Amino acid sequence: MRPSTEVAQVEAHDAHDAHTDTIVAIATPPGVGAVGIVRLSGPQAFAIGRALFRPARRIPESVYPPSHLLTYGHIIDPNSGEIVDEVLIAFLRAPRTYTREDMVEINAHGGPLILRRIVELALAAGARAAQPGELTLRAFLNGRIDLTQAEGVMALINAGSDAGRRLALRQMQGDLSARVQAARTAALGALTRIEASIDFPEEEVPPPDPAELGDLMAQARDEIAGLLAGAESGRILREGLRVAIVGRPNVGKSSLLNALLGVERAIVTPIAGTTRDTVEEAAQINGVALHLVDTAGLTATDDPVERLGVERSRTAAREADLLLLTVDVSQPLTELDGQVATDLHALLGEEGAPVILVMNKADLPRAINEEEAQALWPGAPVVHTSALERAGVAALEEEIVRMALGGAAQAADALVSAARHRDALRRADEQLAAAQATLANTLPLDFVSVDLRAALEALGEITGESATADLLDRIFAEFCIGK
Ligand code: GDP
Repeated sequence: MRPSTEVAQVEAHDAHDAHTDTIVAIATPPGVGAVGIVRLSGPQAFAIGRALFRPARRIPESVYPPSHLLTYGHIIDPNSGEIVDEVLIAFLRAPRTYTREDMVEINAHGGPLILRRIVELALAAGARAAQPGELTLRAFLNGRIDLTQAEGVMALINAGSDAGRRLALRQMQGDLSARVQAARTAALGALTRIEASIDFPEEEVPPPDPAELGDLMAQARDEIAGLLAGAESGRILREGLRVAIVGRPNVGKSSLLNALLGVERAIVTPIAGTTRDTVEEAAQINGVALHLVDTAGLTATDDPVERLGVERSRTAAREADLLLLTVDVSQPLTELDGQVATDLHALLGEEGAPVILVMNKADLPRAINEEEAQALWPGAPVVHTSALERAGVAALEEEIVRMALGGAAQAADALVSAARHRDALRRADEQLAAAQATLANTLPLDFVSVDLRAALEALGEITGESATADLLDRIFAEFCIGK
């Protein structure tokens, strides 16, 4: 079997050759809009664009088509001469384009029939319908961006929060690539020193200094450790934070959810146990997306309707990144409060998500103190709130972000946000650790080199150097058409 690096290079090369055709796609979302954009990319883009476009005023052939300028005119059916739409067209000459190929962007009126007609004319003139993400794939294959940057484009488009958008932008601009490359360079340095001594033993290349090799591997592992340290924050910045509100009935969970949302959503009633099911809402705190789940109850019951709600609640609690264990400070703690805490302990286990103890109804006379409440969850930070009067909500928000992201400093270090990257980094680190162990056991250097190659391969999957065609397909299939 060929190593997959080679496969990728071969396939990428094949794919590149196949990309001598010209592709066309509608780049704007389906439906009616003021403007709709049709994009062409490839060697025939200008010829097809010229065949379909008639400028409103004569432009001397010597300066036609003007690159990177908007030109006003009409799209016509070249067969019948019929006018299809009035448009602004941009001819973008390679290589200063998104794909590094010649591109044409037609800004037409945003009606689905108009746009489809323009695409059909382009197809008739020799273009091929683009696959999802195919323009970005070309940008990657033509070396304008690496794989993390391509993924950053999609993450940017799909960002659901300000923090997620900022993170995606940094990824698109190559911040993650640079850090992964730094780890690669160190590992590659170790590999080339070893290979030189293996390949040219007779040329008196001195055997590599084990201390130097060890340093390079440690350097690569440091870089990876730094990236992995921010990965959890990165995931939260990208996907948002799942927060489950738990507590016995009537402590004010729904009210707390509403207070965090700032709007009335969950139904609040003074009758215990009305939130039969989980209620999930989305909010943002400091630009971080928050998925808030109001849970019904965690204790198994015989009531079939309740049972469903309990199952959902248990799932929500298990999947949460953070839990708000809520108590009513105006009442002495009840058996049910203890039951909720016990259930939660059992659900989360030892390494469970962090818990914040929320002492709600702080506007009422207090029946319990902090120590009593903390007995439910020793070590949990305590926040006092009045969901009714919306007091203490800002402090709670602050605590949520602090607990989840470990402070703003770590969030700023977050570069890794995709599971794919995290997984590849972990594998690279394992291989580097294996290489270090092999070196320490003074086994032959060939063995060290095998481990190093595997580490480089894993790092290359992130940036795309050793991405297989299959991996590329999977990644780009999630893109939108026309991007
Ligand atoms: P849940 O069953 O835990 O979701 O509790 P709800 O949010 O439905 O609230 C139960 C009752 O407590 C309602 O009558 C709320 O208005 C009331 N309540 C909730 N939070 C507070 C609070 O902070 N102060 C006071 N005084 N009442 C509250």
